[in-house]
Parts: sequence; C-alpha cells; structure tokens
Amino acid sequence: MNLYYCCNNIEITFWEDKRNLITDQNAVGKILAVSSTIVTFFRELQLESTSATAVSINPPIPDLQQYINRFKEIGEEPTTFHSQPIITLAQMMQKNPDSITQNKGACNVTLADFDHDKPLAYVNCNNCNQRAHLHEKSKFVCLDHWDDYGVKCMYCVNTIIKDKDTTAKAIFFDEAMTDMLETTCEEMIMKRGYKDTKLIPDEIIALQGQHCQLQMTIKKDKSIAVNRAKNLFRIHQHLQKQRE
Ligand SMILES: [Zn+2]
Repeated sequence: MNLYYCCNNIEITFWEDKRNLITDQNAVGKILAVSSTIVTFFRELQLESTSATAVSINPPIPDLQQYINRFKEIGEEPTTFHSQPIITLAQMMQKNPDSITQNKGACNVTLADFDHDKPLAYVNCNNCNQRAHLHEKSKFVCLDHWDDYGVKCMYCVNTIIKDKDTTAKAIFFDEAMTDMLETTCEEMIMKRGYKDTKLIPDEIIALQGQHCQLQMTIKKDKSIAVNRAKNLFRIHQHLQKQRE
C-alpha cells in the first residue's frame, strides 16, 4: 500500500509483511506516526517499510486534534494509491463500466505483450489539438499552425496484460506509461528520436514480462484504461542497488 499527502508530500510504501499495518479504513484522514523506514528514490524521494517498521494511528501526542484540523484546512483529501484493495483481473473485468464509482480497481499483473499495429503515442498541436504530422522525417507540424505553438506528445500504448488466470487488453495512457518507463513521451519522441510512433522503442519492448501494479478503469467495450502504474520490477531493482 502507498500513502500520499498533498503539498509537502512523500510517498511511503509498505511492503508485503507490513501491508496490513494500515488500511484505507483505519488510516485515511488520520495522523500517522511511522517509525524505522528507509529513504529510497523512485522518480523522487520516498520512504519504504523495513522489518522494524511500526505504525501508530492517531498517536498519543499533545495537540493531536490540532494537527488533524490543520491538515483538513489544507483542503485536499488525503488519498492512497489505490482506494480499493488489490483485486484480480477477473474481478476487474466484472466491474460496472457505467458507474463512475464502481468502474475502477487496482491489480497486480504482468505486461505480456503489445499490439504492434497501433501507434504508441499521439502528437497533437498545442493550439488546436489536432494531430500533428511528421514533416521531412524530422519534426511534427500542425497543418493549420505549422510549428508556431509546438506540439505535445502523449503515450497511448495498447497492451495485453495478465495475472495468473486472466488475460485482458489494456491501454496505458500517458501518466501510466511515464510511470512504467520513468521517461516522458516528449523525451522519447523529441530527444531520443522515435519519430515513427508505430515502431515500438526498445525501452518499451523491455517492459514485456515485467510485473506492475495498475490503477485501472473498465470501459464500456470491456477494454481497460490504465491511469497510473507502478513498475514493481523496477522498484525492486532500485531497492537492490541501494542495498548493495
Ligand atoms: Zn494547430
């Protein structure tokens, strides 16, 4: 489970043996005292549980209520990475696509394959938002505005994901694919030169077979939109490096 708080926020990851110390029900909106974590780096600084980590919810400190009120005044709702517990892909597929509260879920899956026939990114004009076209194999331009306003690049990667008994089609949207790669679409296309948006770059191919935790929404056509992702494989790599 991962906790966030707004403003000066830091993410804490509670690994397997500590995952039950807090739940959405007992922790959201409360003051937490968390001990014995380690500082690690995954896109930004974060904290992770260790075997010694302990949590006290609304610990007996002076002015506890004042702290709670102060966080409330900041105005933003505290959230967890997934507001529901992790479910299976089969359970995800049975969610109701017509309900905006019942169509979301989080799953641990493997990224099994890519749809090689679909583009993996969109490049649109910053001004009119229409699709930009590759000009002389070097830059993207808008037919109406040329490169006057520049373009924005967004991942939209069609994949096959699976867990132990279910396979599904899933589209990784911009934020989710950026999460997986730690590389923005703009960086991939503009700086690394992947101008052919149907050609899947090696960095993305390398994600094949990797384990990830996805925040998803089920669509009416039973396809899955992936909104955020955690590349569990990469997190463990980061951790291992730090311990060496
Ligand atoms: Zn335009």
